[in-house]
Amino acid sequence: MNNTRIPQFDNRFLHELPGDSEAGPRRREVLGAAWSSVMPTPVAAPSVLAYSPEVADLLGLDVQDPGFAEVFGGNALYAGMQPWAANYGGHQFGHWAGQLGDGRAISLGELLADGRRWELQLKGAGPTPYSRGADGRAVLRSSIREFLCSEAMHHLGIPTTRALSLVSTGDAVVRDMFYDGHPQAEPGAVVCRVAPSFIRFGSFELPASRGDLPLLRQLVEFCIARDYPELGGSGEVLYADWFRQVCTRTAVLVAQWMRVGFVHGVMNTDNMSILGLTLDYGPYGWVENYDPDWTPNTTDAKGRRYRFGAQVAVAYWNLVRLAQALSPLFADVAPLQAGLDAFRDRHAAEERAHLVAKLGLGTFREGDDALMAQFQQLLQDGEMDMTLAFRALGDIDLADIDLTDIDSGRPLPAPLEEAFYSAQARERVLPALVEWLQRYAVRAADSGQSAQQRRAVMQAANPRYVLRNWLAQQAIDRAEQGDTAGITDLLEVMRHPYDEQPGREAFAAKRPEWARERAGCSMLSCSS
Ligand code: AMP
Ligand code: MG
Repeated sequence: MNNTRIPQFDNRFLHELPGDSEAGPRRREVLGAAWSSVMPTPVAAPSVLAYSPEVADLLGLDVQDPGFAEVFGGNALYAGMQPWAANYGGHQFGHWAGQLGDGRAISLGELLADGRRWELQLKGAGPTPYSRGADGRAVLRSSIREFLCSEAMHHLGIPTTRALSLVSTGDAVVRDMFYDGHPQAEPGAVVCRVAPSFIRFGSFELPASRGDLPLLRQLVEFCIARDYPELGGSGEVLYADWFRQVCTRTAVLVAQWMRVGFVHGVMNTDNMSILGLTLDYGPYGWVENYDPDWTPNTTDAKGRRYRFGAQVAVAYWNLVRLAQALSPLFADVAPLQAGLDAFRDRHAAEERAHLVAKLGLGTFREGDDALMAQFQQLLQDGEMDMTLAFRALGDIDLADIDLTDIDSGRPLPAPLEEAFYSAQARERVLPALVEWLQRYAVRAADSGQSAQQRRAVMQAANPRYVLRNWLAQQAIDRAEQGDTAGITDLLEVMRHPYDEQPGREAFAAKRPEWARERAGCSMLSCSS
């Protein structure tokens, strides 16, 4: 590990984009500027609770350095850091919300490491001009969730912002978790998240909404030059290429979410990354009993706008908002429409590839999509655990079982039995499930792969371990009692989500009964 380098910063966002003439956290509308200078607010007693060894290595930072907790808790800066909060807007729950901006995130700088550029950003570092009525802080529970899920997603092979560190502040933060008049003091924390860019769809929507075309154009040029250096050309042709890239990256991203059962929970346009990364881990969740209508976000419980099954359509809707914001830069909407069409095409291709891999079918054939749709319907009707059920399909030996024998009195192969949450739901779907398995066995036997190959492909598409909400909650409960081992254990498991990890089967278990209705496990609020 190379930990001896002196960190090198090159803060292009500040140097190349216009900034606010006023510095400091006074809440205000910020016009004509992409950022405001603002220092993190010092905390009482910063202490490193957890860190990602891979990210520290990537950045060449020494976590053992005595100054590390001070810097990543917000009390000190490395030479070259120039803290700022970014200005952006967004559509929240379908409505234009005006200026939002980094209300509790403060970027420290763009670190150059091994020829790559990484923006380091503290979340929960204190007020900024964009904090409106809020305190700019984050509680420990939500910080643990962001820290763990960023890394879990990365190890699942899903584009995401990363997390370097989780630092407790020693300060209390008051939150009314369910907005029901019961505010409580909770421990505070700061996560350092890391990405090549934190530019959001809403970064472009804000200047567009204000008719500030010079800033809009400048932002587009900047984003292309810094974040999409591989694109060539200029003017409208370049912008069109870039927008198409944003669309296809977003298509890849949501297809990946659907593959593993991840529900973002707050797909507002200010939470949509221009690089197609998973961004802003708030009231996210993981599907356990398969249900396309499920949302983990209590704030969204009524409309379910951001439910699991709606994510692809919402991503498209968000891209349409981005296209509208960019439209003043185009003489004609055709190139923007072409980008949106590319989203649909790319998503269809990704979804098909995931379907073939998840079911181990070799190459796609007519009828395979129906086979998948029928299985998903069975998972839903049978209230089966999504992760366990897909993994089971690869683990059971289809050649060896005589399915004709199974009726409600006899068990299915053990890995499939494991996936049920309810005996009644099992009864209900058993005949249809057996019938489906028979058809599936025939199709899978004809996949053109050896049983071994097929299993390997399926295991690589169907994780054994995902960051189930109740697992994160157990780590949170322990951390709130001062024991951080739950965080490190969970991080360790999530580093190898596709591998069988003997001795760690408990981390792959389906949701226990106690977690069904418990806060943090089945429902999460935005209050974090
Ligand atoms: P989110 O729903 O977390 O994406 O946040 C939406 C907006 O509210 C963003 O501009 C955030 O920076 C801001 N925000 C959320 N929580 C806080 C907080 N505790 N203090 C200040 N701003 C916040
Ligand atoms: Mg956000």
